[in-house]
Amino acid sequence: MTAGPRVGILALQGAVDAHRAALERLGATVEMVKRPDQLDGLDALVLPGGESTTMSMLLDSSGLFDPLAKRLGDGLPVLGTCAGMILLASDVLDGRADQRWFSAIDLTVRRNAYGTQIQSFETDLDIQGLDVPFHAVFIRAPGVEVRGTDVEVLAEVDGEPVLCRQGPVLVAAFHPELTDDDRIHQLLIDQVGPR
Ligand code: GLN
Repeated sequence: MTAGPRVGILALQGAVDAHRAALERLGATVEMVKRPDQLDGLDALVLPGGESTTMSMLLDSSGLFDPLAKRLGDGLPVLGTCAGMILLASDVLDGRADQRWFSAIDLTVRRNAYGTQIQSFETDLDIQGLDVPFHAVFIRAPGVEVRGTDVEVLAEVDGEPVLCRQGPVLVAAFHPELTDDDRIHQLLIDQVGPR
């Protein structure tokens, strides 16, 4: 039997345990990433939901920001969910003045774009390439304001992209780890080539 891929979860802050469970169900070996040396040997990475402003500060103070930017620049397959999507965007609106991001996917996103009344909502999403809808939970989700022409839209809500891909970078405005449906995590694992 071949060992599953080694998948890291950025574990500085936010919703990490449910991601671990999903990845382990898919046969991955999971590494909780809190220090730069824990990036070594990863085949893929998850940037979870949480608070992108706090994660930005912790990425700086942990010394992870630059080494992680380098791995992303080298094409590490990555899934960013909610705050993780914000961290991977090319531009962030309504962020903190000192907030940093990785510019790994050509999207301008607005934090908390879905407004105060419906900060959280759930919906069944039709996702390109998946035959059955995916039950998606949105929590203070970011919205896409500008999308580069190289970005594929895999799902939309009311005409707005909520699941996008550009090469090895997959971003979801929702929280795919909050259901037992592992198909979004499977899309990440599918990006890992032969090792
Ligand atoms: N609103 C949060 C942020 O801006 C993201 C929310 C989430 O990850 N559920 O970072």
